[in-house]
Amino acid sequence: GQKDIYVKSNTRAKSVVEEVFSADKKFSDLDIHKYIVSNLEKINFTTVTTVQEKSIPIILKGDNVLIRSQTGSGKTLAYAIPILDALQKINPRIQRGDGVQAIIIVPTRELALQSHELFGKINTFQWIVTGHLCGGENRNTEKTRLRKGVHILIATPGRLLDHMLHTNAFKIHNVRCLVLDEADRLLDMGFKRDIVRIVEELDNTKTNAEYNPMAILKKTHFTDDDNNETAITDSRKATGTDLMPLKDPNSKTRQTILLSATLTHGIAELADFTMKEHTYVDALEEF
Ligand code: ADP
Ligand code: MG
Repeated sequence: GQKDIYVKSNTRAKSVVEEVFSADKKFSDLDIHKYIVSNLEKINFTTVTTVQEKSIPIILKGDNVLIRSQTGSGKTLAYAIPILDALQKINPRIQRGDGVQAIIIVPTRELALQSHELFGKINTFQWIVTGHLCGGENRNTEKTRLRKGVHILIATPGRLLDHMLHTNAFKIHNVRCLVLDEADRLLDMGFKRDIVRIVEELDNTKTNAEYNPMAILKKTHFTDDDNNETAITDSRKATGTDLMPLKDPNSKTRQTILLSATLTHGIAELADFTMKEHTYVDALEEF
């Protein structure tokens, strides 16, 4: 078995990526579809950043991952590229009716639109549909826009939860990948409760998950912002492993990707709550 490695804030990582990487690795050196590489080249992106080089192969493997890297280091493509690559590989091709495959949660409307735009630039696969959900439109307009089917959904937490609970705008039972981008800001902005509800809702709606009566319900203790110790009983049914390979279309579990510029106690708790085990990628560079 793998040795447990303890990193800061008691975050338990099954492995830590810390090798020295080459300075000028190209997107074309990565094991990703050549159309993605050529789209990146069209917007003048040829060389990977450190966080992209370290994270992309691990995400492609299907591991849960906690990524720490400073603002401006290229975290968006670090998850966008492997998600898109994994979705294009699924055979037979995903259909609009298959529902949402990847949910990307970001703290602000502006970030949602930016991330959505970047997906648009690298996605040449016409059968893969991206969408955003971040307010600024009324609920019904959003519902109409999304109900035809969307595979990659970039959203702010409140609006996403609102639709998950109150509209039937999109199907979430096939979600293979959950990204919490700018996780430190999500927590700072008070979105923890919304995120916990979203994760619970995703797990409870996973109709393709096998019910295992022997599963022990996972209990997670979350320290509340208000200084109260809140015990959150997670009713999700354990399905064996949290490794949820995007690359495996038959996988019954979900992959989780957490990205943050800082590694705080709150982030460690969020990692423990959302992932049974994970790989820790530290791409923080010396200034
Ligand atoms: P972070 O999320 O870590 O703050 P972003 O993903 O927002 O960083 O990227 C910061 C900037 O760097 C963006 O303008 C983005 O387009 C640019 N960028 C990202 N990856 C590359 C790359 N491989 N080559 C050149 N520019 C890049
Ligand atoms: Mg970012």
